[in-house]
Amino acid sequence: MKKPRTDSPLLLVNIGQLLTLRSGGDSGPWRGAALKELGIIEDGAILCMGGNIVSVGKTKDAVRDQWIKKNGKNIVEIDCSNKVVLPGFVDSHTHPAFVSPRLVDFEKRIAGATYEQIADAGGGIRSSVEAVRKAGKSQLSEKILCALNEMAAGGTTTLEAKSGYGLSLDSELKSLEAIREAAAKWAGTVVPTLLGAHVVPKEFQDRRKEYVDLVCEEMIPQAAKRKLARFVDVFCDRGAFNEEDSLRIFAAAQKSGLGIRAHVSQLARTSLKRILRFRPASLDHVDHVNDSDISLLGSSDTVATLVPGANYFLGLDKYPPARKLLDAGVAIALASDYNPGSSPTTSMPFVLSLACTQMKMSPAEAIAAATINGAWALGLHHRKGSIETGKNADLAIFDVPDYREIPYWIATDMCAAAFASGSIIASSRGFERS
Ligand SMILES: [Zn+2]
Repeated sequence: MKKPRTDSPLLLVNIGQLLTLRSGGDSGPWRGAALKELGIIEDGAILCMGGNIVSVGKTKDAVRDQWIKKNGKNIVEIDCSNKVVLPGFVDSHTHPAFVSPRLVDFEKRIAGATYEQIADAGGGIRSSVEAVRKAGKSQLSEKILCALNEMAAGGTTTLEAKSGYGLSLDSELKSLEAIREAAAKWAGTVVPTLLGAHVVPKEFQDRRKEYVDLVCEEMIPQAAKRKLARFVDVFCDRGAFNEEDSLRIFAAAQKSGLGIRAHVSQLARTSLKRILRFRPASLDHVDHVNDSDISLLGSSDTVATLVPGANYFLGLDKYPPARKLLDAGVAIALASDYNPGSSPTTSMPFVLSLACTQMKMSPAEAIAAATINGAWALGLHHRKGSIETGKNADLAIFDVPDYREIPYWIATDMCAAAFASGSIIASSRGFERS
């Protein structure tokens, strides 16, 4: 199946609030007060052609434009009165390559078991592995495509997708191939990440070092050679991989020319000093960071990606210290962490809501973290994350007059439509092109 394409120019007019997130340049991910500047245009208009944005401004100027007047018949026009248009969300941390929900774990957790008790009893990440190993590539790819479509329905147009439930050379490569197959059928953008170092598989139980050898010497070079991954990720935490393992994996990723990101300090603190020397694009979770970690992050270009959906679903009282991180100048992104064990949600609006209510981020900060800083976390800031001339026409239209309503309405689908490179990838709430 070919990707859908729209060849006609697309014109969005009468936009109640157009959130451009036009940046002040290219000087790194957004921090501090910059995250509050959404660059709002009231009664805005956007013209898109050939999959990209060609102009952004006021509706009154767009309707006077000579080129638009002349080509009116060929232009697909969309009336966005009383609506908010913003850059499609960039969900920079997801795990869609799995087969089934983990309902036994869910019930155990409700009955009081902890994340680690569940893992020790054979649940957790390892319990998703068997099904992924047995699954055919096309079965896996269908599951992934369903998730991509669900994400689009919530306004996501770009996402990072990790492997990590195969944990053998063949099954990790199969997962990455399934991600590629699903991505080819979706008009949004998918950035693949090899997460072979998610947890040590059962057959390597007491041979962690040998498993790390397999990741470094086989998985990473093969994924790189076959161009199946752009990043390598490690779950660096208690019960998974330690700092030494992670540094070895980072070195192997660098050697193969892949980018680096890591799950870190979700369950217990890992000092970030040596990890940051590898200049990872993103460090994710960061629940347990101390002042020295925070100040190191603040002076780096590494994005701290917060995934409050996991804290919510695990029933934790504590959330990552977003305000402290923001005050220290750390560049924050927000992501869904979509996965069957700890964050089974594809909804970025829900993540934004958690960021506001549980981590005390303002609605503006949450939107910037979920768009432009998500793009920085994936190295896609030149093409994604803001509505500016020359960038991809990746847009989300919300059926609300004020952007603050996006995180305000909890678990309510307010996204009317999403466009990726100018092609419509989701629509609801009676949305129609005029
Ligand atoms: Zn994760």
